[in-house]
Amino acid sequence: MFTDARGKKIVFIAHCILNQNAISDGTADFPGTDEAIVGRLLKAGVGIVQLPCPELNCLGLDRGDPEGATSPVIEENTRIRGAMGETAPARILAGLVERVVFEVEQYTKHGFNILGLVGINRSPSCGVDTTSRCNQEEPGRGVFMEALRTAFADHGLHVDMIGVKAAQKEEALKRLESLLS
Ligand code: SF4
Repeated sequence: MFTDARGKKIVFIAHCILNQNAISDGTADFPGTDEAIVGRLLKAGVGIVQLPCPELNCLGLDRGDPEGATSPVIEENTRIRGAMGETAPARILAGLVERVVFEVEQYTKHGFNILGLVGINRSPSCGVDTTSRCNQEEPGRGVFMEALRTAFADHGLHVDMIGVKAAQKEEALKRLESLLS
């Protein structure tokens, strides 16, 4: 089964690594994709699964509120974490988590090798090693990554997770290598 050309190796990546257009206003680093990360994955010949953007799905594209903030980024990081915990967004988030868990379960069940998942450090939603709270980057996970990690554990699934920052290209590639090697 599944003995065709596919390599059966998969990496899940945060939505905005492939599509910067999903990022909140004022925070994109690239016109389209993070070419360093995507280029390395293409070279590795792995299947790339684009995770849903939790903030776009839960809060919409125009979710910034820079009015009165000294830094739109800092304001975003504080406000968004709270907004994601509201009843309706939390319900949507749970659905997104369920969808990802189903996909991971399916690939795992059929013997595919999920090499890992790449999140975005400092993000209030997609941070893996660091997130943001009370205007500060701090150790911890964003709400989406935390929910995914819990759900993976609940379903007996193991997925290695790394966090990268677009502005730290060399470090990001080094971390990615740890999944690919
Ligand atoms: S870090 Fe996560 S929530 Fe933020 S734009 Fe990227 S995918 Fe969306």
